[in-house]
Amino acid sequence: MEHPENCEDYKGLTVNAGIEQPSSVNPYLKERRKIRKRELTVCEFVDGIVKGDITILSQAVTLIESVKPEHHAIAQQVIEKCLPYSGNSIRVGISGVPGAGKSTSIDVFGLHVLEKYEGKLAVLAIDPSSERSKGSILGDKTRMEKLSVHPKSFIRPSPSAGSLGGVARKTRETIILCEAAGFDKIFVETVGVGQSETAVHSMVDFFLLIQLAGTGDELQGIKRGIMEMADGIVINKADGDNLDRAKLAASQFRNALHLFPTPDSGWEPQVLTYSGFYNLGVKEIWDMIYKYIDFVKDNGYFEYRRNEQSKYWMYESINEWLRNSFYQNPKIESLMAEKEQMVLQGKLTSFAAAKDLLDIYFKGLSDNSYT
Ligand code: GDP
Repeated sequence: MEHPENCEDYKGLTVNAGIEQPSSVNPYLKERRKIRKRELTVCEFVDGIVKGDITILSQAVTLIESVKPEHHAIAQQVIEKCLPYSGNSIRVGISGVPGAGKSTSIDVFGLHVLEKYEGKLAVLAIDPSSERSKGSILGDKTRMEKLSVHPKSFIRPSPSAGSLGGVARKTRETIILCEAAGFDKIFVETVGVGQSETAVHSMVDFFLLIQLAGTGDELQGIKRGIMEMADGIVINKADGDNLDRAKLAASQFRNALHLFPTPDSGWEPQVLTYSGFYNLGVKEIWDMIYKYIDFVKDNGYFEYRRNEQSKYWMYESINEWLRNSFYQNPKIESLMAEKEQMVLQGKLTSFAAAKDLLDIYFKGLSDNSYT
């Protein structure tokens, strides 16, 4: 049966539309969020960084680490504008195998330099394994308990995406921003397992290698190349029962270093023992580092090495760009698996496959078919 209320002539009470449910999202809050989320302009980034604003510095570092091309473009402009404010720092690379005591030591080293020399300290990291392990442990705040709550420190874990070259480039660019923000001491931490030392060495003034004693043949596991890079080798955990072994290891390292030619800097690398955990011998390490800095500033090597590093990074950037441009090229990507199969099946030599792909890539470039 028809309802009387539905009839047009019905004069009784009518039902109005219900009161609309208000949106669960506070519109003002939304507006505020929009403002907060608004991307800063290049000038705002640079102003904030130069004023030492840590939040803005962190946001700028996030841009450097981003894989989005639009972020990359802004980051590059920010870095360029920060360059004139950068360079005025002491950059120290700190390397050692996992368990050598890097984080314990950096916590103690950091507090020492902040106390003794004032200024501000940034701790950065290069960990090429971080992509695989989904998140880096190096440069992690939780591992540096005291430093992480110090008002004059800035700790940033390793960028996690990309090749070692890419990760290292991002750390190097982060150094520039940190320096522009007034950080006059920069530590770059890395795991002592191979290639990453070379990357760190290419961006620091002093390379400190943390070693452990105890096995009796400390020198065997360590690559000659890494020892040659070191401006100072420090044997950690020189405490308790381990003290004598640490001293023995130190003398073995000293003897080994004598066999190497004097480095270009003219500085004879030193070997010291210390205990990060008990804060013993830490002052001596920093006295050594500052002595080195004075030494190389006097003989001109400091300036020379920084220039060499800039040159190195120019070439590294070219290599990285070329590599990405090639491997991320859609045409190359679509052909890669096929060529790989042909090589595996013995239908094409590795060299011929590489040449085919490169020819296709360069032809595309000259036809201007890639944007
Ligand atoms: P990382 O992996 O190189 O960062 O090493 P950690 O700083 O995490 O240290 C590894 C372990 O060694 C931890 O259990 C520390 O407590 C211990 N450790 C670090 N420094 C010292 C030290 O000077 N003496 C002693 N006895 N143990 C230490």
